[in-house]
Amino acid sequence: MNYNDIAQLLFPDVTESPEDIFKKYPKRNLKEGQMVTRFAPSPTGLVHIGNFFQAFISYNIAKNTDGIIFLRIEDTDRKREKLVAKQVLYDVLKRFDMNFDEYQTLDGKDIGEYGPYVQSQRVDIYKVFAKKLVSEGKAFPCFCKKTEGKEDVLKLRESKFVENDEREYDPCRDLSYEEIKKHIDNGDSFAIRLKTKNTGTERIKFNDLIKGDLEAKANAKDFIILKSDGTPPYPFAHAIDDTLMGTNIVVRGEEYIASTPAHVELFEALGFKQIQYCHNPLIYKLNEQGNRRKISKRYDPESNMLYFCENGYPNDAVYEYLLNMVNSGFEIWRKNNPDKSWREFKFKPNEITTVAPIFDLVKLNDISKNVIATMSGGTLYENWLKFAKEYDSELVSVLESEKEKFVKVCQMDRDGRPKPRKDIYNYKMMKEKFAYFFNTPTKFDIDSEDREKANELLSEYRKKFAMPSTNEEWFNDVKLLAGELGYATDNKLYKENPSAYKGNVAKACEFIRVAITGEKDSPTLFTIMEILGEDEVKTRLNIKF
Ligand code: GLU
Repeated sequence: MNYNDIAQLLFPDVTESPEDIFKKYPKRNLKEGQMVTRFAPSPTGLVHIGNFFQAFISYNIAKNTDGIIFLRIEDTDRKREKLVAKQVLYDVLKRFDMNFDEYQTLDGKDIGEYGPYVQSQRVDIYKVFAKKLVSEGKAFPCFCKKTEGKEDVLKLRESKFVENDEREYDPCRDLSYEEIKKHIDNGDSFAIRLKTKNTGTERIKFNDLIKGDLEAKANAKDFIILKSDGTPPYPFAHAIDDTLMGTNIVVRGEEYIASTPAHVELFEALGFKQIQYCHNPLIYKLNEQGNRRKISKRYDPESNMLYFCENGYPNDAVYEYLLNMVNSGFEIWRKNNPDKSWREFKFKPNEITTVAPIFDLVKLNDISKNVIATMSGGTLYENWLKFAKEYDSELVSVLESEKEKFVKVCQMDRDGRPKPRKDIYNYKMMKEKFAYFFNTPTKFDIDSEDREKANELLSEYRKKFAMPSTNEEWFNDVKLLAGELGYATDNKLYKENPSAYKGNVAKACEFIRVAITGEKDSPTLFTIMEILGEDEVKTRLNIKF
């Protein structure tokens, strides 16, 4: 069969050869050990945590080897190709400060020598390689309509092959030049399929950086490499782009392991060197019954990376949490290196967990509390304001007009303390947590059996109240008064005989705290009083529970 003639018949306009293309994509000049990785998302309108996890791993592998990471937009699936989706993607990447060495800007400018970095702009390249495969008899045109194709495949299998045959040969694989010409003259559209060389019994081996050597059934299906609209499905685009763009590690989700044999066959057919794979585990969640299931955009708001922005988690907290999922050694490293940036934690691909990580918001909150605890009050204020500017315009005006006050709020129990308070895990919760700095409380956390005692203590405290100038002075005033009213001033004595007292000094302090903040627990009350100022404190003490 003259495959060259068939190739010419199918692609009369394709004049370039693979060699011509390779000239435009010279081999990267890399130092020993330098990795070239990429993030290759299909913009869908949201960035899923699983995809981001994969991007983060790629990013780290590149950065840890002084290598390169590029961004490639996989938008050949036209149903999903939408500008907004791309904008969302770029926005999320920017929010998380994920910078790529090579990419295409939103307005279409390629940064880097290996572009275009958007697949829909590369269709001419795919055709060159498809033509080459046809000319070598390794691929063929398929004129079947979608459903006809399937039925015919089944018929062919029934008539030609023994039972349980794994082959999925396409009925068009052996069309003659004349038959093909007739279709073309008719104006019939066609897809291009790989003519698999396998018979369904072969097995292949490939290596995965995380999972090691893997063995699987070889591909035995004539799968499509170019759709009738000229665009390539994932495997063909992946093989060509990653080869031309000089990727040397493909980090991608574990769900691609099943189709890797097809990719391996494609690399071989194209005469390309097989690229190293690194299939990262998918992220799971536990359901209410404690069973594992994949984190899903349908049920889990945290599957969308914007969730962390909308709730005001610092990027560093999110990254630390992702690192925790990548490698459990991070937690120990963090304990031993409390002051270092997570960026200094290095891991090798083969150290990435093989066990599917389980997303746990409680754990993230814990990590985030520690991250926020390392911020100075000034930084915390700025971050809170930045968050408000995006998500809470009312809050912005208060934070800005009372800047001095709210910087002090952020500094409470934080600046200058070796062990700062760790009770904030995101910026969103701060408005509620510090509600008593925005408004005089209207709800008071007081137990009903304490009401009378509390009212008595407050009315006496009001009478004697003078704004204290130190925390000690404040505490001594309360202690004195409490003693006079029958509270124990010595906790040891109180514990020995609690019924002899109205309570201990801590209880008396609690009543004053509830009057001023509405809550039983708060940062240092004296600091809160200082920030609120004497007039406001006096007003608040005027309460009757
Ligand atoms: N566009 C593919 C996806 O989003 C890329 C997979 C890969 O990284 O190779 O799943």
